[in-house]
Amino acid sequence: MVYASHFPDQFEAAAGYGWTVGDRQFDWPTLIAALDTEVTRLNGIYQGMLDRSGVEVFPHYARFLDDHTLEVGEEKITADKILIAVGGHPVKPNIPGIEHTITSDDIFHLPQQPQHVVILGGGYIGSEFACILNGLGSEVTQIIRADKILRGFDDDLRTEIQDAMKLHGVNIIENAEVIAMNKSGAGVEVTVSTPHRQEHMLADAVSLAATGRRPNIHRLGLENTGIEVHHGAIAVDPHHRTTVPHIFAVGDVTDRVNLTPVAIREGRIFADTEFGNKPGLMDHDTIPTAVFTTPEMGTVGLTEAQANARFGEEDIQIYKARFRPMYYTIPNMEARTLMKLIVQNLPIRCWGYTWWGTMPLRLFRAWRSPSKWGPPKPTSMPPWPSTPAPPRNLSPCGRG
Ligand SMILES: Cc1cc2nc3c(=O)[nH]c(=O)nc-3n(C[C@H](O)[C@H](O)[C@H](O)COP(=O)(O)OP(=O)(O)OC[C@H]3O[C@@H](n4cnc5c(N)ncnc54)[C@H](O)[C@@H]3O)c2cc1C
Repeated sequence: MVYASHFPDQFEAAAGYGWTVGDRQFDWPTLIAALDTEVTRLNGIYQGMLDRSGVEVFPHYARFLDDHTLEVGEEKITADKILIAVGGHPVKPNIPGIEHTITSDDIFHLPQQPQHVVILGGGYIGSEFACILNGLGSEVTQIIRADKILRGFDDDLRTEIQDAMKLHGVNIIENAEVIAMNKSGAGVEVTVSTPHRQEHMLADAVSLAATGRRPNIHRLGLENTGIEVHHGAIAVDPHHRTTVPHIFAVGDVTDRVNLTPVAIREGRIFADTEFGNKPGLMDHDTIPTAVFTTPEMGTVGLTEAQANARFGEEDIQIYKARFRPMYYTIPNMEARTLMKLIVQNLPIRCWGYTWWGTMPLRLFRAWRSPSKWGPPKPTSMPPWPSTPAPPRNLSPCGRG
């Protein structure tokens, strides 16, 4: 969907490069059918890998009967070691009329493209969907409770992305609370309260709740085990071990860093440690993260605020470059890129690196190799951008 949503920009750029771009229109059912085909193909590949590895798959929900026994469909299964990786589910906030909303999971199954979409929530899933649907031609309003989207990310980046999203046509309503949603023949009327006024907007049959996720623990039968739950997530130690020594948990059900490569890496470390005689630890501090807004963002390490808090402002130097990439100067399109390095003065160490604009992932790859100047490294996620000195095209600047 992200790739599909980039085409309007690419058509505009193509025209600026001299290509003749004719009439164009987007067909939602064609995209959804192509996505379904691809997901089915990928599922087949994974099933094949499991089959060839001799893994027996039980296509049922599992529920603990005791610390060693799981009920799976009609069967009872016991094991010496058990790994829980049941993920999470979207939560719907308690707002009158919330039953008229769909979740981010449901968007992939809409038979027709929504024309007017209201997105609740300013996290990365909500912001990505705002950009995707806007790029595909829907009219998008995103309602956020704070003044900026993407809480937890670097403040400069949050501002840049929010401004760019507005420039691309996403209507972002800041400092806003949804107070009611009413369904009528015309669609769902969403009433929003801001410090200055009340607003009403009509979404054609759909408003999308992107307001957080919770671990899938409610049907697991945890009450039949000694597994402890902290803040709604399965509690684990640094070795992914629960409070029952032979039961482990990885991924979103532990609610640490909820990303696909993290879940995969945690599972890999569990397997290597418990079965491969290669013990390892996961470093949750330095996980490279991409946010597929338009333009996209890549970030790794500390934000400026986190570095200041950890080392003190006087020990931190910020390097920034803000420019228009050549890809956009030639077709004369207004699209900026921001690069930012967070560097500790003595010893010189890069603790954070952020890129917003075109193709941040390409740059991430260039920075992949670990440097002897980097911070000490347990088993970390690649890529690990660390560098003895900031690149020459970045200039030191005042605090962001
Ligand atoms: C809309 C959206 C966009 C996202 N985009 C990104 C992204 O761009 N990049 C990224 O890195 N991450 C992204 N994520 C997060 C990513 O999907 C999760 O972090 C990742 O899937 C977690 O993996 P997991 O194995 O812990 O859980 P899941 O992938 O959720 O897998 C859990 C599986 O367990 C099954 N299950 C649940 N309960 C039981 C039970 N009792 N018995 C048996 N099976 C059970 C579930 O049906 C599911 O199949 C996104 C998430 C969402 C919702």
